[in-house]
Order: sequence, then C-alpha cells, then structure tokens
Amino acid sequence: MTDIPLSPGMAVLDVDLSAITDNVRTLRARVDRPLMAVVKADGYGHGLVEAARAALAGGADSLGVTTLGEARALREAGVDAPLLSWLHAPGADFGWAIGAGVALGLSSLEALEAVAAAGAGAAVHLKIDTGLGRAGCTADDWPALVERAAGLAADGRLSVAGIWSHFAFADAPGHPTVRRQVVNLRAAADVARAAGLDGFALHIANSAATLTDPDAWCDVVRPGVAVYGLDPMGGDPAAYGLRPAMRASARVLMAKDVPAGTGVSYGLTYTTNAPTRLAVVPVGYADGIPRAASNKAPVAIGGRRYRIAGRVCMDQFVVDVGDAPVAAGDEVVLWGDAAYGEPTAQEWADAADTIHYEIVARVGGRFVRRHHDDLRGRA
Ligand SMILES: *Cc1c(COP(=O)(O)O)cnc(C)c1O
Repeated sequence: MTDIPLSPGMAVLDVDLSAITDNVRTLRARVDRPLMAVVKADGYGHGLVEAARAALAGGADSLGVTTLGEARALREAGVDAPLLSWLHAPGADFGWAIGAGVALGLSSLEALEAVAAAGAGAAVHLKIDTGLGRAGCTADDWPALVERAAGLAADGRLSVAGIWSHFAFADAPGHPTVRRQVVNLRAAADVARAAGLDGFALHIANSAATLTDPDAWCDVVRPGVAVYGLDPMGGDPAAYGLRPAMRASARVLMAKDVPAGTGVSYGLTYTTNAPTRLAVVPVGYADGIPRAASNKAPVAIGGRRYRIAGRVCMDQFVVDVGDAPVAAGDEVVLWGDAAYGEPTAQEWADAADTIHYEIVARVGGRFVRRHHDDLRGRA
C-alpha cells in the first residue's frame, strides 16, 4: 500500500482538438451551409479558446457564445472570427461589443434600445420565442420589435443580421413541437420582412436538428454538443461520424486489500461480499463528479470495467477491483471514447440521471485540462 500525494496530473481532462476539428468538418459537410460552432460555457468544458480555434480549423463559419465575457476572452486571444453573443446581463457593455464586431442576440425592445444607444453599427440577431418559453420575444411583442429594428436599420444605426430561435426538445427531434417551432420561426421572418427587414439569416438548428432534421437547417446551423463529439440523442456518436473530444481520467491514490463485509464510503451504502481490493480515486463532487453517480457510474482500470463502490465524496470515490492487481498510480478512465473501450459521458449521465452536457460542462475543480493535437494513437 503506497500513498501518492495529490499533485497536478492526478486527475486530467485530455482534450483531443483533432476530434473537434474533424467533428465540425463532418457537420459542415452534412449541412452544406454556414455553421456556427457553439463554444459557450468554456467550450462545454473543453476550453473556450482552444475549442474555438479547433472548430474554426474544421470550417466553422462563426462562433456562438452566451456572455460578452466569453466574447471578450476570444477577441483577447486573437480569435477574429464572426461571433454571436446572446445572454446579456443588464448593463452589458454593448459599446465594446459593437467595437469588437461581436453580433448581439436580442430578445426584447429594451435590449434593442440599449444596443442602439451604445453606438452605431451593431449587427443584431432578433430572437423569437417559438415555443421554448425561455428567452426570446413573444409573438405578441414581435411586431413592435421588428418595426423598431427596421426603423433603426433604415437610419443606418444598426443592421439585422439574423432572426433566430431555439428548440424545446434538443434530444427528441421527432417531437411535434419541433415542426411547430420551425413554422413559427418562418412566420416571424415574414413579419420582419413585412416591416421592411431583409437580408437576415434564419437559424434554429441545434446539434439534434443539425444531425437529424434538414427542414430545420434554414440558413445557418448552431450545433454545440455534437462539435465535442457527443450525440444529443444519447446514442453512439460514431453513427454520425463524430468522436468525443474529452477523456477524463485520474490516478489511483491508494489500493488496499479488505475482508468480506467491509462497508465502503459515507453511509456504508456498499459492502464487499468477498475478500477484495479497494482502489481510492482522488476526485469527487467538488471536481464535478456527480454524487448521484454513487454506486453506479463506470470506470476502466487496466482495460477492465468497474463501477463506483459506495458514495461519491467531495474529493474521492472508491472502486472495488476484486482480485485485480490494481496499485497506486494506475490510471482510472472515467469517460472518453467507446471506440477505445472507455466508458462514455453518456454512461455517466445515465448513472447520474442527467445528460452528458452536464457531465462535460461541469467537470473541473482539481482536474487539470490538457489539450492535444491528436489523441487517436492512444492504446
Ligand atoms: C447551447 C445552445 C446551442 C447548442 O445546443 P446543442 O444542443 O449543444 O447543439 C444552440 N443555440 C443556443 C441558443 C444555445 O443556447
């Protein structure tokens, strides 16, 4: 039994940038029209700037982010691609956005007025709520919004570059609301044209629609999770020619032999049923490992599969490895690419009763993220 001090590298997120590049190339070829790669939330946990550069290398025509902080981080890193930012706190610095050429997704007259007041030359994308019931202008308020936008455009104050919306069923492309939302989006575009706007791009397709629904592709598609190689429907991304870009792993902190009947971790929710070996893995819910995955989520050690034994704690969890000669320092793969026999983020999502988006976007804490040009050669 050897203890290894926790050090950088004890828990690692290896990001394969070639996967992001290849996934974008695959998606772009599939739709044969402009693609906006969504890199919000630190590139879904893969690294904002690195993911953006990899997506652009794969042919992304533009990038989508939520906050102006994300947009600023991209511009400061020298990423000069077209950017759309769509989540603005009151008081957001629209003047900076206009100067930096960051297009603004807007859902209300108040926001439009704030942008117009911040300076001339903004490119705005007006968002209609076609059925998600979240951000977006209601159909009732839409005519006034596009009237005002048309007036500002006629005066040369700003341009309306897009009209857009977002789906309620990201993971169920056959859902009846999907068709209705596309119809509602096209109707909103007609209202905008009647108000005198033209030349705008229409867009609504997230990853699920990009993969499955040509009727929703419109003028631009906006995939996020598929860029990172995950299937939004929860299936095998390889079916679409995509591969996961993130591999999460940690090193066994210590391993020890215990007798049958040993209770494991807080609450002793797991009990060994034979003499066995326990491996302690130094990541926990403070690092984004879901506690809900206790006793369920899979890991791979030395090419063999195990499940977490007992509760996921703040900083660690335990794996019952049976008679395998697992030792301190051995690599524990949490999730990666099924093509290498690694557990997947989808399996973790199933274990934690969530979606893989949350698994990859939330992981962090003491994990060290490393970017690689290409990880395909791994064993
Ligand atoms: C996150 C997001 C997307 C991408 O969604 P995916 O399901 O990850 O493809 C597209 N558009 C908007 C407005 C978003 O917030």
